[in-house]
Amino acid sequence: MTSPILYFVDDLAEGVSTGLAEGVLANTAEGVPVNTAEGVPAPAVPYHRVDPGAPQITVTDLSVTRGDGIFETAGVLHRDVQALEAHLRRFAASARILDLPAPRLEVWREAILAAVRAYDSDEPGYVKFIMTRGIEGTGVPVGWAYVATAEDFSAERGVGIRVVTLDRGYRHDVAKTSPWLLQGAKTLSYAVNKAVLREAARRGADDVLFVSSDGFALEGPTSTLLARYGDTYATPSTDQGILAGTTQASVFDWLEEQGCATEYRQITAAELPRADALWLLSSSRLAAPVQELDSMPVVVDTEMTARINAALEARVS
Ligand code: PLP
Repeated sequence: MTSPILYFVDDLAEGVSTGLAEGVLANTAEGVPVNTAEGVPAPAVPYHRVDPGAPQITVTDLSVTRGDGIFETAGVLHRDVQALEAHLRRFAASARILDLPAPRLEVWREAILAAVRAYDSDEPGYVKFIMTRGIEGTGVPVGWAYVATAEDFSAERGVGIRVVTLDRGYRHDVAKTSPWLLQGAKTLSYAVNKAVLREAARRGADDVLFVSSDGFALEGPTSTLLARYGDTYATPSTDQGILAGTTQASVFDWLEEQGCATEYRQITAAELPRADALWLLSSSRLAAPVQELDSMPVVVDTEMTARINAALEARVS
């Protein structure tokens, strides 16, 4: 596996001192420090490339000690980032939910595109970008973006995945009743999202669909549910403490262009077995058809899956 391309984002958020004031060290796109005080004609690029093999994060950074921060993962295909603007918008929304300073999206966008340009490969990849609350006690967030080669998901897309439903333990209206639980933000606290995959494996499955304690289908630990009933494609409405999926949004745009009916609504767990087809949608794996739900077979619509994935792969930044 080749090492990731890593860029630190210096001027990363509104109202945060960056050290890029006049006369201090700025960075070129190549990560070479340039002293602007000496009048060296170099742009003050507010991000810089660093060695992914060298130590970068302080051990008291709150991302390390508390999982306190936000992130996004976008697909990289044909040397371009997929749905970058949607990911940037969701990054900003997550920052608001966590009371983090607003990320300077124009800087993040440039840093991400620089990292993707430096990823000199036609292999499908992904870009992950992260903003932490920073070193404990400083109140100064820390951020970076890296590009790495993606896993090969062709089997999941072709054959499908076995999914189990697991109770998330929250009601569907948790985001309204208990906003401090941060449901609907993409936080770095993903230990639970990983634990449920181990539970799925213990049950002989590949992935999970969370269900609310009051019986509504929610989302996967890293994916959005898409269900087809007749000619209508449905996804759980995002007011149920779930993440607004960027892949699902792209799929809805494409389905609507094809003249298909789409809807955001509450989908009960009880009606899942009656679906004509089910998929889990996410940025790297794209549309993975569900071939089994709670050990019951689900029909895989191979042709539609291929069409959805072709449409997703054609996206640009
Ligand atoms: N829901 C959760 C909890 C996720 O973590 C993710 C992505 O990781 C998704 C849904 C799917 O989002 P996207 O399509 O933007 O990748």
